[in-house]
Amino acid sequence: MSYTIEIKPETFMVESLTQSFGQAHIPSPLRVSFQTENFIEDGKDRILVDISLEGLLKASRPDNGKILFQPSTFELAGPREKIFWNPDNLKVAIVTCGGLAPGLNNVVQNLVTFLSDRYRVKNIYGVPFGYQGFTHDPLTKRFAFGWRRLDSLSVQNIDFEGGSVLGTGRGHSNPISIVDALMLRDINILFTIGGDGTLAGANAIHEEIKRRKVPIALIGIPKTIDNDVLWVSKTFGFESAVGKAVEALRCAQTEARSAFHGIGLVKIMGRNSGALTATAAVAMNDIDFVLVPEVPIRLDGQNGLLNAIVRKVIDKGYITIAVAEGAGQDLFPPSEIEKDASGNVKLKDIGKFLQKVITDEFKSRNIETTLKYIDPSYMLRSQTTSADDSVFCAKLGQNAVHAAMAGKTGCMIGYAHERFTHVPLAAVALGKKHLDVNEPLWLSVLAATGQPFQWK
Ligand code: ATP
Ligand code: MG
Repeated sequence: MSYTIEIKPETFMVESLTQSFGQAHIPSPLRVSFQTENFIEDGKDRILVDISLEGLLKASRPDNGKILFQPSTFELAGPREKIFWNPDNLKVAIVTCGGLAPGLNNVVQNLVTFLSDRYRVKNIYGVPFGYQGFTHDPLTKRFAFGWRRLDSLSVQNIDFEGGSVLGTGRGHSNPISIVDALMLRDINILFTIGGDGTLAGANAIHEEIKRRKVPIALIGIPKTIDNDVLWVSKTFGFESAVGKAVEALRCAQTEARSAFHGIGLVKIMGRNSGALTATAAVAMNDIDFVLVPEVPIRLDGQNGLLNAIVRKVIDKGYITIAVAEGAGQDLFPPSEIEKDASGNVKLKDIGKFLQKVITDEFKSRNIETTLKYIDPSYMLRSQTTSADDSVFCAKLGQNAVHAAMAGKTGCMIGYAHERFTHVPLAAVALGKKHLDVNEPLWLSVLAATGQPFQWK
């Protein structure tokens, strides 16, 4: 993984409630089942952020005849031998925000069962419909939505369903009102599960908690089938979504192959990142064009996309195109920008647009074609979880609970170089992750499709 953002060691220093509210002195209940050496030691157990040689060289500099080595490192996630919170009267809240992703219920289930069965936490609440679930009247202290009490029994089998049993939502992320709500309900730990927006919201809530100097821990859990959250190489739902996207591509290809000059076109989720589209295309192997937000599309001209499509249809007989929903947004005439409740720009429909311009191009050249367009959209995110994603959700949930019980706060559970980590929310809020066109995934796409590096 290479980063365009400048990374400094201090960016990855994780906050802990122990810095302001006393030591973590309670022996972890996990000591019964864990060997001492399996506990993670703060300060000692860290891994490099950037494992490239170039990254290592950048982190070293000559100093008085010696080499000073100061690489940026992630704190490792996992159980600590001493915990900060006494589980007896602890109150924990869990909220899921943003769009759906396969695995939301698995994460909720793992948080609840791990908190209650291993750490013996008795008071766990599910906040409904995302940040909107904190809405309350400051005078009457009445909440707009009832919070659900959760325990191991109430979350049994929720992993058999897609979606979020808590409900999810966009908008309503006023940090002052949310911290008021947390204090009204005496919440000690809040877990927020969501994408880049949710984690930015969590960072704002954490800042408000710090401003008030109150001992409330906040742990973020990344959810993004687009794979656009910084400092996580993989998140839950991605693999499940790739599986469904491949099904859609296979159908489109079958349609294309069975028609004279057939064209199959599939639009795949991915507002800012083409990672899902690219991965599904590589999994299918026989895809001809992969269009992603990171590579601008040029339609016209000898080396433009339309000419390449016509040539390939004539040469090969049929083609399949995978397009990410965020690709080619600059092809639309400028108009008033519309936004959703969370402030995300509403995207123009690149799938329908391509369907029209490709069909028009063949018509204008008097060449026969049949184009079938598939938009599997919400089918990718509302399905249940693959076995591999379920394993990932279990580990994510467990590590989030370990982090919270140890007193960590203002951090997200990250995943890098196949290890779970703690990443400060402020570092997550530095930007969005994009597909790097010089990295192996995109190079595999170019190798599999034979399409040019750029459309010029
Ligand atoms: P996804 O994009 O996968 O659907 P997301 O978490 O990015 O997930 P959003 O709807 O963008 O989904 O945001 C989720 C919540 O976070 C919303 O309640 C939104 O109001 C809030 N939020 C988004 N961006 C910010 C921000 N910059 N600061 C504070 N809150 C934010
Ligand atoms: Mg988002």
